[in-house]
Amino acid sequence: LLNAITMKIICVGRNYAAHAKELNNPIPSQPILFLKPDTAQLLDNSPLYYPNFTKELHYEVEVLLKICKNGKFIQPKFAPEYYREVSVGIDFTARDVQRRCKEKGHPWEIAKAWNHSAAIGQFIPKETAFDPSGQLQFSLKKNHKLVQEGNSKNMLTSFDALISYISQYFMLLRGDIIFTGTPKGVGPVDCGDQLEGFIGNQSLLKCAIK
Ligand code: MG
Repeated sequence: LLNAITMKIICVGRNYAAHAKELNNPIPSQPILFLKPDTAQLLDNSPLYYPNFTKELHYEVEVLLKICKNGKFIQPKFAPEYYREVSVGIDFTARDVQRRCKEKGHPWEIAKAWNHSAAIGQFIPKETAFDPSGQLQFSLKKNHKLVQEGNSKNMLTSFDALISYISQYFMLLRGDIIFTGTPKGVGPVDCGDQLEGFIGNQSLLKCAIK
């Protein structure tokens, strides 16, 4: 059975206080986790076709960690060994569907984990992604205009602490990808929009909405 699974995507919700606030959510005391299946991947700067089950498709730019070593119950001090490459991605969300799920206390998958809902940028060595102060700056442009800007220093739970926490529940396997949460500024996209994701000033992801 394991051989049939190519990879999984583990996502973190509300990892930036300012984003939790903009959607009127409380700041969580522990990371909020959800999964996307491998079929959620959107690779190679492919376009996203606006799904017909939503009228409120939102972008959420996030830093991605690519797992390079299998592990569970990873201690935070060993977490850096488990990822060598980072990128940016977009956690596409059907916000209207998510609102209905939340109201009913239902799981989020139909709002978050649908086909191609996880746009994945080009991975780069982590050494080239952090600035001299050890922070990672990332951003998203929509139609060449800056719409989201984030810095890893504002995360409620750090990359290493996330790897440790996640690995208590979900064994991390080589090739898995972690979406580490979105900063404030999430918003809608329409057909014809062009999204572009950056770490620092390196463009790592492009996605057209069709
Ligand atoms: Mg997200």
